[in-house]
Amino acid sequence: MTRDDVEPFKQLFVVMAQRMAVPEEKLSGAGSYFLAFQEEDPAIPFECVKTAGLELTRATGATFFPTAPDWLTRAKELQRTTQLASAQRQLTAHKDDNSPHCHDCSDTSWAPLPDTIDPRTGIAVGSVTRCGCVETNPKLQTERLMRQARHAGRQS
Ligand SMILES: [Zn+2]
Repeated sequence: MTRDDVEPFKQLFVVMAQRMAVPEEKLSGAGSYFLAFQEEDPAIPFECVKTAGLELTRATGATFFPTAPDWLTRAKELQRTTQLASAQRQLTAHKDDNSPHCHDCSDTSWAPLPDTIDPRTGIAVGSVTRCGCVETNPKLQTERLMRQARHAGRQS
């Protein structure tokens, strides 16, 4: 979650508190929950936190506001499920599609820069730069996820 998620998070917190009929004076906790999440896993997407939060307060027999660790655990589960599902989709989608998603770097995440002339030698020097698609390129994301999955598999 990012700073931009602070306000939506507070709103979500209020909705959850209302569902659980948590008294007003306990609502001051939104900030500390947010901080706890930030510390524990800054990369957790707000969408997962939201779905997890709503799920936890909707659960039958739920009478207590979820603790930050419980909430985050559920959010992480959701994140993992979503990631795996989309990785799976990417893999299937790319099977018949060999054209690169990014034409700047051909999905290598390194984009060539225009050659520069070295003033001392007069020789054209090629170089590369981190491509702007690094964070968003689905092919690179899929590769990262598959690496993570393999890594997690080895650990357990
Ligand atoms: Zn690229």
